[in-house]
Amino acid sequence: MNATSELPSPTGTTSHRVSAEIDLEALRGNVHTLSEHAGGAGLMAVVKADAYGHGMIPCARAARQAGAAWLGAATPDEALALRAAGDRGRLMCWLWTPGGPWREAIEADIDVSASALWALEEIVAAARALGRTARVHLKIDTGLGRNGCRPADWPDLVAAARVAEKEGTVEVAGVWSHFACADEPGHPSIAAQLGVFHEALAVAARAGLDPEVRHIANSPATLTLPEAHFDLVRTGISVYGLSPSPEVGLPRDFGLRPVMTLRAALANVKRVPAGHGVGYGHHYTTSGDTTLALVPAGYADGVPRHASGVGPVLVAGKWRTIAGRVAMDQFAVDLGGDAAEAGDEAILFGPGDRGEPTVEDWARVVGTISYEIVTRIGARVPRVHRNVDV
Ligand SMILES: *Cc1c(COP(=O)(O)O)cnc(C)c1O
Repeated sequence: MNATSELPSPTGTTSHRVSAEIDLEALRGNVHTLSEHAGGAGLMAVVKADAYGHGMIPCARAARQAGAAWLGAATPDEALALRAAGDRGRLMCWLWTPGGPWREAIEADIDVSASALWALEEIVAAARALGRTARVHLKIDTGLGRNGCRPADWPDLVAAARVAEKEGTVEVAGVWSHFACADEPGHPSIAAQLGVFHEALAVAARAGLDPEVRHIANSPATLTLPEAHFDLVRTGISVYGLSPSPEVGLPRDFGLRPVMTLRAALANVKRVPAGHGVGYGHHYTTSGDTTLALVPAGYADGVPRHASGVGPVLVAGKWRTIAGRVAMDQFAVDLGGDAAEAGDEAILFGPGDRGEPTVEDWARVVGTISYEIVTRIGARVPRVHRNVDV
């Protein structure tokens, strides 16, 4: 069965101007592969940011089908949406601001995170008011310099959590942290962060905490650093079959398969003479008699404007380069002497096995990372989920 998040087309057709096909069989395969990489550790499939642009609910279901015991979300809204859609497994959410909403999260059996005393105090107050025990993961900043408790403040946070445990308002389900440079294997900060993490775990144990899961590994650490696996790995980008960075390797080096294919139907194909300007600013001019094809996808759909003049796309059997500027809704390619017609397929990226560019190719030419390419695919691009059922 296939599903699309788009409203039924008024014309009743199934063709799309542009669409992101999401292969859930590939996603399930990636979860299996990553579980093998994780060894004895459990797997959390991170589905924040609409599953990195792939559609959160169908991707979360597919990850569960493939055995993911945990799901990870950044924001409370994401976690609550997963519960509203019927997800009942272990679910953690880590990006909190004063006000929570802690009550809703605790009632929905969402594992929350505390990086500071203010958060723990709000969690305890909400749990008390509900008469329930909140499952909390305490976060230590081992060196990333982002969220997490400073090592100097860690003994106080841990002691307060232990008091709350004895009171029954909190269960410390996890102690965790996050890497700064796991995508640069061998970076000296990796060993330094692991050292700080071990010390923080020792401090927590001495205070009487016995967390169910200790976790620090993201995708690159899961793929390259077994000593960082602990009890649970938090994999995001690799679930979607993408590599965290060129230094880590290509998806196929790890048995991963890209999940998203972004394609469009050509909106126009026409012959033009030499010297014809193309697109806003005329940053491209045809060098001879040629054929221009119009791809109806632009920066509002997530095609980076920085891809002007450099973005790759497969049209009429060959890689083409975007001619001139990417506009809000469209861009042109120069087909040279090759033939095509309106309605023909243009593939911006996919797994690569039909000769099309990959997400990594796009990230390289626009000077960004694979994460940004897929998470920025626009809201008006329908996600068409394939292989929904196992
Ligand atoms: C996004 C995120 C992850 C997943 O990282 P990937 O590199 O995509 O695997 C893991 N942990 C935290 C805290 C995150 O914010």
